[in-house]
This record gives sequence, structure tokens and C-alpha cells, in this order.
Amino acid sequence: MVRGHRPSPGLAEHLTRLYDAFPFDRSLAQDPVSMVRPYREVPKAAEIAGVVAATLAIGNTTSIRRSFAVFAERAGDPVAFVEATTPANWPRRLGPFAHRWIRGDQLGFLALRLRRIYESYTSLEDVLLEGWGEDGGGFRDGIDALSTALRGPRGQRPASPRGYASLFPSPKGPPASPCKRLVLYVRWMVRTGYPDLGLWRRVPTGELRVPLDQHVHWIAYHTGLTDRRTRSWSTVEEVTEALRRVDAVDPTRFDFVLCHTGISGDCPKERDLEVCGPCSLRPDCRLWRSRRAG
Ligand code: SF4
Repeated sequence: MVRGHRPSPGLAEHLTRLYDAFPFDRSLAQDPVSMVRPYREVPKAAEIAGVVAATLAIGNTTSIRRSFAVFAERAGDPVAFVEATTPANWPRRLGPFAHRWIRGDQLGFLALRLRRIYESYTSLEDVLLEGWGEDGGGFRDGIDALSTALRGPRGQRPASPRGYASLFPSPKGPPASPCKRLVLYVRWMVRTGYPDLGLWRRVPTGELRVPLDQHVHWIAYHTGLTDRRTRSWSTVEEVTEALRRVDAVDPTRFDFVLCHTGISGDCPKERDLEVCGPCSLRPDCRLWRSRRAG
């Protein structure tokens, strides 16, 4: 491995070439945002469907989409579902629903939290921006505010189900989580570029951060966008800053492409001449540059 691996001078061009040639429609069918896009004509429904889909975004995309479909079938109209959720009925509304370690009672409680939030705010964007403005903390404080609101106040009644609070970590820690799912959710809501929904118009796209899943981190590390081997909020900031040098206005436009390059197997995450041959990132990739250097 090359220590202190830095992007090649051509990285911007290579990323742009990857982006321009990317089969978005192929990968959209695999992505959880495809489950949220049908709600986009009703912003509040899309917000609710989006936060549920993002919360479920753990594991492989097929199981995420399957679990969201189960939720959607049981919940029906997301707005009506949230408005009808009460402390008395939230534990049983989703019955035996389970996705990985996420349970139906936790999603029911999430619906109750959303109902409470909408009693004070028109949109979750307001929650994000309220946190953003406090102490000039910017995006990180906005995500912290969103996460705090979804967790709910300590000592609340009814108490949140076991494990619920850990679904919504904070970028302020401890530990300072990369908050992949909430950051992904905000990308869906803010970006107007395909395949995102572009419903929140007060957040500049240049301020978004990269939802750092394992695939994005792998490629970011191997192309020198970061030298950090662990996923933390600091890594999120570093990768985003590197992508801002490529596109200051819309740095997270590359996220979908990098993520699905990994998910689809377009990147085997090892040296494979047949697969890596046409990869536009090969001049930047540690796996190839290190051997050449050797
Ligand atoms: S060169 Fe190969 S391993 Fe490196 S990023 Fe491209 S596809 Fe992945």
C-alpha cells in the first residue's frame, strides 16, 4: 500500500467520467430511494417514508427494499399512519415487523415521535435548520438536532422501546458517528439531481455531507479521498471536502455512483484486470498505483 495516498491530478476528470457513464436506472432499482420517490408529490408523505426507509438502510439493498415494502403495506398512507399513532396503539401497529435488529415497536415509536415533531414543526427541514443555526454549528449541528428530535427527550412517556435511541446516533458523539442513514436521508430530501427528491429548498447542496457507507468509504480510501481507515464524522468531513474540490456546488452527486459501483460489483475491491480494466478510477486506485510504484 502507498502511505499518504493522494488523489491523482486527474481524479476530478476520472470521477466525472465515472458519473457520466453510470447506469443510474439500473442501480436506482436496487436503491432504497426508489421506494421513497413514489411519494414525492406529497412532501410530508415523502419525508415520513424517507425517514423510515433511511432508518431501515442497514444491510443489503434487497432486504432493505423488502422490509420497507412490508412497512408500507402495513402502514398505508404515511401521513395518516403518523397522525393516527398514539401512545396506546404504537406497540402493536407494526406487529411482528423485523428488519435486522430493528423491530416493529421501534418503528411504531418513530411514528409517535414524528407525530410529536409535526405538532411543533411543519417539516423535518425546520428541525435541521433550527439546529444548524444554533451556535453557528452548521450541518453537523443540524444532523444532531434531527437525531435528537427523533430520539425524543430523556424521561419521555411512554419510554422508547429497547434499542430505539441507538438508531439515531449523533455526529457530535460520543463517539462521533458518521450518521450514514440520516445524512443519506438529508441528501434524498435536498438534492434536486436525479435520483434525489429535492423537496427541501433551504439547504444548499454544497453543504451536504457524504453518507459514508462501507462501499463509499472503500473507494474513497483507495482513491486517496481520505487516509482514514475508520468511518467517523471526521472521515465524512474529509471525504466531503475532497469531493468539494471536484464539485463545490454539489459534492454529494458522486455518492450514489460510488456507492453503487461497490454494491453492483462494478468494483471487485481487488485487482481484477478484466473488471478494473475499464474503470475510470484505475489511475487513482491504491491497488494499482501501489504495484506500479513497487
Ligand atoms: S481499479 Fe478496480 S479495485 Fe480500483 S476502484 Fe476501479 S474497479 Fe475498484
